[in-house]
Amino acid sequence: RPSVVWFRQDLRITDNPALRRAASSGRLLICVYIHEDDDPAVEGMPSPRKPGAAARWWLHHALAALDRDLRAIGGHLLRLKGPAALELDRLIDRTGADRVLVNRVYDPEGATRDRMLTERLAARGVRLLSHNALLLHEPWTVRTRTGGPYQVFTPFWRAARALGEVPAPLPAPAQIDMADTAPAGLPLAAFGLTPAIDWAGGIARDWTPGSADARRRLGDFLDLHLPDYKSDRGRPDRDHPGADITSRLSPHLRFGEIGPRTIWHAVHHRIEAEGLTGPARASAQGFLTELGWREFSYHLLHHFPHLPTRNLKHQFDAFPWRDDPAGLAAWQRGLTGYPIVDAGMRQLWQTGWMHNRVRMVTASFLVKHLMIYWGAGEAWFWDTLVDADPASNTASWQWVTGTGADAAPYFRIFNPVLQGERFDADGRYVRRFVPELARLPDRFLHKPWAAPASVLTAAGVTLGTTYPHPIVDHAHARDRALAAFAGLRATT
Ligand code: FAD
Repeated sequence: RPSVVWFRQDLRITDNPALRRAASSGRLLICVYIHEDDDPAVEGMPSPRKPGAAARWWLHHALAALDRDLRAIGGHLLRLKGPAALELDRLIDRTGADRVLVNRVYDPEGATRDRMLTERLAARGVRLLSHNALLLHEPWTVRTRTGGPYQVFTPFWRAARALGEVPAPLPAPAQIDMADTAPAGLPLAAFGLTPAIDWAGGIARDWTPGSADARRRLGDFLDLHLPDYKSDRGRPDRDHPGADITSRLSPHLRFGEIGPRTIWHAVHHRIEAEGLTGPARASAQGFLTELGWREFSYHLLHHFPHLPTRNLKHQFDAFPWRDDPAGLAAWQRGLTGYPIVDAGMRQLWQTGWMHNRVRMVTASFLVKHLMIYWGAGEAWFWDTLVDADPASNTASWQWVTGTGADAAPYFRIFNPVLQGERFDADGRYVRRFVPELARLPDRFLHKPWAAPASVLTAAGVTLGTTYPHPIVDHAHARDRALAAFAGLRATT
C-alpha cells in the first residue's frame, strides 16, 4: 500500500526525514501539499495561522520549486485544497494508503491538530508517522535541572549544546516512485497565493524561493562573510543587494527549504576545513548562536503556547497601551520622521525583509515611542515579512517590548537618532530606502529637523512636505513611556 508524504514547513527533498523514510520503504509514494486557505477547521480541530501576504508570495514559488525538485527524482507534488483532515481522508480512500509521513510542526494549533489527526487516522487503520526536520533539538529535549523549560537564552543554549552532536543531514532520495492511483490535483494557480495587483516586484528582485537558492546563499555566506559576521552583522549599511553580511537564510528556513542541520554541519565543516581560529572561529560560533535564538523561540512557543497572543510577563497585561491609528499608519508606511525607522519600514514593504538591527529599532519605536501594543506590530510584520515565523516573530516582539523571556527591559529605550548614527554611520542604508533625504549631509541624515534651513534647501528637503516632521518628540516619548512603566510597577 502506498505512503503519503505530507509537506508543510519542510519544502525540501534533502534532509527531509519523512520523505527519506517513505522513499526507503520500497513502497509507492504520494507527495502532497494541502492548501487550507479560508476553509473552516473540522470537528473542533484548530487551524494553523494563515500566512501573510508576503509569505503567500513566497509559498507560491516555493511550492513550484519543490515540485521541480521532486520531478528531478521521479516524483511530483500533488496539490490539494481544503481542510487537511478531509483532504487526507479522501486521499486515503482513493489510494488505499496506510501511512502518512510528516515532519513535525510546533505552533500550538499545528501541533494540536497533528495529535488529533493521529487519533483520527488511527481509527481507520492509518498511521501518522512524524519526524524532526525543523530544529536542531526539539523543544522538550532541552530541559532545566528540574525538568522544566528554559526562559533565559544562555543556559538554554548551553544545555542544548550539551545534548551532543547534531545528526548529519540526510541525503535526498536518489529516486522515488509515485503511486498512479492519486488524483490529478490542482494547478498551483488555484491556491490564489500570488497577488492580483503586482506589489511583489521588489520582493521578486531580492529573492528566489526554493532549496537551490537557499544552498547558494549558504555557500556565498560561508565563502564571503562568515569571518566578519560577528563584527558586522549589526550594520544595516553593510546590507545591500549582492553584498549582504548576514546570511539572509531566514525565509528559506521558515519554509524548510533548507534545514538547520545542513547549516550547522556546513559551518562546522568550514571551521575544520579552513582551520578557523581566533576571531574568525568566534564569528562562526556567533552565527551558530543566532540559530540558537531560533531554537529558543521554538522552545518558548512550545512551552508557552499563548506566546503569540499574551504577554509572557503577565504584569504587562495592565500596561496602558495607546490607541493611535494615525501613529500606527505612519509607522507602517515609513513616515514617522525618524529616518532609520522609516528606512526599515520601507525596506520591509519593498523587499519583504528587514535587517535585524533595524527590526529591533522599528519595533522598539512602535512599543515605546508610540506606546502601541506589540501585537499590532507583530501582525504587520506577519503580513509583510517573507520570513514571518510563528515562533521567531512573536518571541522577538515580546523580547523587544520587554514582555518576553530574557527580554530587553522596557525601560531601555532606543534613541533612533543615535541608533542610526551608530549603525548606519555613512547613511548608505537610509539613502537607499529614504531617497528624498539622499542629498542631506551625513551629520543631519539621521536628524533632518536639526539641519539649518539652507542645508535643507540645498538638499531639496522641505520638512512637512517632502519628508515628515517627527511624529513624536524623542525626549517626550521617552518620558511618557518611562512614566507608564513606573506606573505599572507601582500597581503590580
Ligand atoms: P542571520 O543573521 O544570517 O542568522 C541566521 C539565522 O538565524 C536566521 O536566518 C534566523 O533563522 C536565525 N536568527 C537570527 N537572529 C535571530 C533572532 N534574533 N531570533 C530568532 N532567530 C534568529 N526572524 C525570523 O526568522 N522570522 C521572523 O518573523 C522574525 N521576526 C522578528 C521580529 C522582530 C521584532 C525582531 C527584532 C526580530 C525578528 N526575527 C525574525 C529575527 C531576526 O531579525 C531574523 O531572523 C534575521 O534578521 C534574519 O536574517 P538572516 O537570515 O540574514 O539572519
